[in-house]
Amino acid sequence: MTLTLTPGGVAWVDGEWKALDEASISILDLGFTRSDVTYDVVHVWDGAFFRLGHHLDRFLRSTGILNMDIGMSREGLADLLAECVRRTGLRRAYVAMVCTRGRPPAGSRDLRLCHNKLIAYAVPFVWIGGEKAQATGLSAIIPPFRRIPPESVDPTVKNYHWLDLERGQLEAYERGADTAILLGTDGNVTEGPGFNVFAVFGDRVVTPDRGVLEGITRGTVIDLCRERGIPLEVGPLPEARFREADEIFVTSTAGGLMPIVRLDDRILFNGVPGPVTARMRDLYWQRHADAADLTPVDYGQAEA
Ligand code: PLP
Repeated sequence: MTLTLTPGGVAWVDGEWKALDEASISILDLGFTRSDVTYDVVHVWDGAFFRLGHHLDRFLRSTGILNMDIGMSREGLADLLAECVRRTGLRRAYVAMVCTRGRPPAGSRDLRLCHNKLIAYAVPFVWIGGEKAQATGLSAIIPPFRRIPPESVDPTVKNYHWLDLERGQLEAYERGADTAILLGTDGNVTEGPGFNVFAVFGDRVVTPDRGVLEGITRGTVIDLCRERGIPLEVGPLPEARFREADEIFVTSTAGGLMPIVRLDDRILFNGVPGPVTARMRDLYWQRHADAADLTPVDYGQAEA
């Protein structure tokens, strides 16, 4: 059977297929009213999921910690994500899986009685910093306020507690920068709106060990460093040390590896990506040809 493709995006909401613009949830869903939700995003690059297993593992760990039931198996979820992509026909896509708490029965506030809702959708690939940021880099600020502490909200459970990150982004606009990198309440570097952070000192690559999402892109960079013998430190990164970094880059499924060429008023590396950053970026994209990390999408019979 042929399928009419929806290249603008398609969503599966709690059992029903919707065009992206028609996909919605109740205004009473606790995912909306309380940010009681977890999610994950995997990308499809040239027709194949990249590190799909890593994303499924992280999402299922998150739903487990939040006591949410996605109502299907890991294999069922993998098939659903592939079906989302198939219905769009997209060779390069941003594919999200979301589980919201849902709503308790009328008259109840018991979270245990909620029907958790699974949502999946595929849209064209998203570059959070714009595609050219891969080559030219981004500018960043460090705002004065701090990231929500991990003792309050576990950042390893991917979440929608983004008011601090959004506030950072708004401050970045105000100060003429592209994005923000937030410190934790301990004064160490954490992360930014949608990305992990790396600093380079000489040939040594450093990334924070706590107070951050364990990003899949971050994990790929860590693997690449270990495999290639590139000196790597996963540990606390205090603000003062960070400000002295030779190079800085940030990582995300939605944007790859983005060099930071200005931090507040300091220009790094004459405003161009440094050599370690450029190497890591190229290795990251080359890794997308490694069959071990790829799950090809079966596009089957479909027509535009
Ligand atoms: N940190 C935060 C807060 C994020 O939202 C994201 C991605 O959305 C990341 C880091 C990067 O994680 P990943 O590489 O898995 O996309």
